[in-house]
Amino acid sequence: MSLELDLVIASRTLAEHGVIDAYGHASARSDRNPQRYFMARNVAPELVTKADILEYDLDSNPIDADGRAVYNERFIHGEIYKARPDVMAIVHNHSHAVIPFACTGVALQPIFHMSAFIGLGVPGWDIRDAQKGSDMLVRNAQLGEHLARALGKHPAVLMRGHGSTVVAESIPRAVGRSVYLDVNARMQQQAMALAKTGTVVSLERRVALVPKPDETKADGKPHGIAFYEIRFKTFPADDPRGNPGFSSDVQEFHVHGGMTHLDALCHESIDGKLYNGFPLKDTVSEETGCTKLGLDNLGDGIVTRGILIDMTRLKSAAARAPGSPVYADDIEAWERQAGLKVSSGDALFVYNTPAPGRAGAGPGVNGGFDLSVVTWLKARGVAVTSGVRAIAEDNHADHKLVLATLGVYLLDGVQLDRLAETAARLNRWEFLLIVAPPQVPGSTGAIVNPLAIF
Ligand SMILES: [Zn+2]
Ligand SMILES: [Zn+2]
Repeated sequence: MSLELDLVIASRTLAEHGVIDAYGHASARSDRNPQRYFMARNVAPELVTKADILEYDLDSNPIDADGRAVYNERFIHGEIYKARPDVMAIVHNHSHAVIPFACTGVALQPIFHMSAFIGLGVPGWDIRDAQKGSDMLVRNAQLGEHLARALGKHPAVLMRGHGSTVVAESIPRAVGRSVYLDVNARMQQQAMALAKTGTVVSLERRVALVPKPDETKADGKPHGIAFYEIRFKTFPADDPRGNPGFSSDVQEFHVHGGMTHLDALCHESIDGKLYNGFPLKDTVSEETGCTKLGLDNLGDGIVTRGILIDMTRLKSAAARAPGSPVYADDIEAWERQAGLKVSSGDALFVYNTPAPGRAGAGPGVNGGFDLSVVTWLKARGVAVTSGVRAIAEDNHADHKLVLATLGVYLLDGVQLDRLAETAARLNRWEFLLIVAPPQVPGSTGAIVNPLAIF
């Protein structure tokens, strides 16, 4: 069979599968001259016949159009054939299912065997990066060349707000890939919708009311004295003092005590310096609290992706003693096992079983990250974490490194049992994390109820 006839069959097959409608086109590199390619004249793909197939040079000039109209976007084909000597066939289409992926930055992933080629990578392209104010169509060689560069060595490229272009070493494979790219996009969107259950899990440890101690009896260092007092006031319905039926309370607590709380970056310093080198003595005082690096920088809260590492389910950790600290190797093993990659802006948590004799260390955060992990966290751009282990020589070492050196927020005292249970049930280790600290001027931290939404 001739390439021309193969292109007729390709067009009709693509139309049959809804990958191309009135628009879209398939082409094949000439088997006689690699500097030429074949593609139909400007006609609806479903109507293409052998007589409609024209020959083009790689600058996308038709060789013998004889007055017949040609596709505006022929430059997609010519420029890719120039850039990719291995490519023998190309399909450009506007299939609907891929558009959401082309617009959002959500990566296409191969979710069934017929679309394994997606695993080679399907980059995105935005015509705005090549030309401002275009009509979205690849209507000249310069735009085609820019698109070919975005395609690189990959099997397909998504075009923002437009569609996709798929390449292969033969027409049948380019057609097959185009059909399965569309099918995969549809199935992946369905899977993502199923996986989002809206399940909300609190990471807050229940507040225990503990009377305020007499600080003079302690070591004079108020840090670590956990107390939470609440005094109630209520006015009966017929209270002669006024305020009938009104109830209120006054609460007093040590913010860095036993409750789940968010540490401000001004909470710890190293050698007299806070994060970004602000001198402690000029920045924090007992009169004003923190004048910089306070939680008032977080007026819109923390809304980001959370990732849970469950050491109790990490296969490669099976031989470890229960409650062992977590190292960078463990996190990377978990990334492979869970199919996730810790990235910039993420909040990272670890769930572990208690080490023998450390049962009181805080439910769900037993073990914690080894102190050596903090440089790994910074390299990946982690923005929030919890449960980093201090060291015997300095029981503030974790806070100093995380807050003062790296500028990463610490969620102290989270309770992760329900989070781990929910993640395991849904087989999903990433979630939306929301932390909304009140903006108390000068405060070094805030009691919070962090929420994970799956
Ligand atoms: Zn197009
Ligand atoms: Zn704290």
